[in-house]
Amino acid sequence: MSQTKITFIGAGNMASSIIGGLVKKGYSAGQITATDTHQPTLDKVADSFPVVTTADNAAAAVRSNVIVLAVKPQVMEQVCTALKPHLAHKPMIISIAAGIDIRSLDTWLGNDLAIVRCMPNTPALVQTGASGLYANERTSDAQKAIANDIMEAVGIVQWTASEDLIDSVIAVSGSGPAYYFLMMEAMIDAGVAQGLSRENATQLTLQTALGAAKLAQDSDVDVVELRRRVSSPNGTTEKAIQSFENDNLREIVARAMQTCAERSKEMA
Ligand code: NAD
Repeated sequence: MSQTKITFIGAGNMASSIIGGLVKKGYSAGQITATDTHQPTLDKVADSFPVVTTADNAAAAVRSNVIVLAVKPQVMEQVCTALKPHLAHKPMIISIAAGIDIRSLDTWLGNDLAIVRCMPNTPALVQTGASGLYANERTSDAQKAIANDIMEAVGIVQWTASEDLIDSVIAVSGSGPAYYFLMMEAMIDAGVAQGLSRENATQLTLQTALGAAKLAQDSDVDVVELRRRVSSPNGTTEKAIQSFENDNLREIVARAMQTCAERSKEMA
């Protein structure tokens, strides 16, 4: 990827996390430019990483073969239409904005570009993200490999077969961290209700979530088998699992994720 020259339009939380990951992976200072309209944000990025920073989106865009759009969705149209006259060299576009579809980007950017729509999640901020990616038909395999490499700087990458599946990516991993936070909140409160100190309940809950995810990732069996292995017949865990099943936890989760995906479709 040594020929890749990347410009991040918007150098906020998500962009600086990706930049941090790329620098760690060995991308050189000359390969990365970050732009922002907010000077303190540019200063922070310049102080943290060996990258070029500028407030000039167009100047940065013309010298890049990859442009990562990392501004908030509400300013995306204005940012894209201003970039449009500066994209004749046909850079690949990677958009990480929630709720902006490829058709809108295509209209605003023109130039028949390769566009990758990417849905990252907040754990990318601690390099443990999960991103769902979809590429339009103009994106070559080599460009997909570059997009994959960039997003892998902050976690794992999964490609979807169609763009509408990005709504399901949002339902699983985009919004997923909040589901686990809610579960953790409920477990902490229940632990406190049983007499544990909040500190005890919080530390035990957080480490259990981390440990369960790590065990599931490192294990050569699936989560169903892992759950079976910790639930001995008539034991403590089995009692809790039965209680969840009796209360239709699976239906509750499926319904929540359905409403999430529907809302994502409405917003696009
Ligand atoms: P952020 O507010 O931290 O960063 C956006 C940056 O864009 C700001 O620093 C802002 O000054 C800058 N900006 C605004 N107008 C600009 C312009 N015209 N030119 C250049 N820069 C400009 O936001 P964020 O949390 O990093 O989110 C960025 C994008 O990532 C959003 O579209 C969001 O939907 C998407 N996203 C974020 C997360 C997350 O966890 N933070 C998760 C999934 C998707």
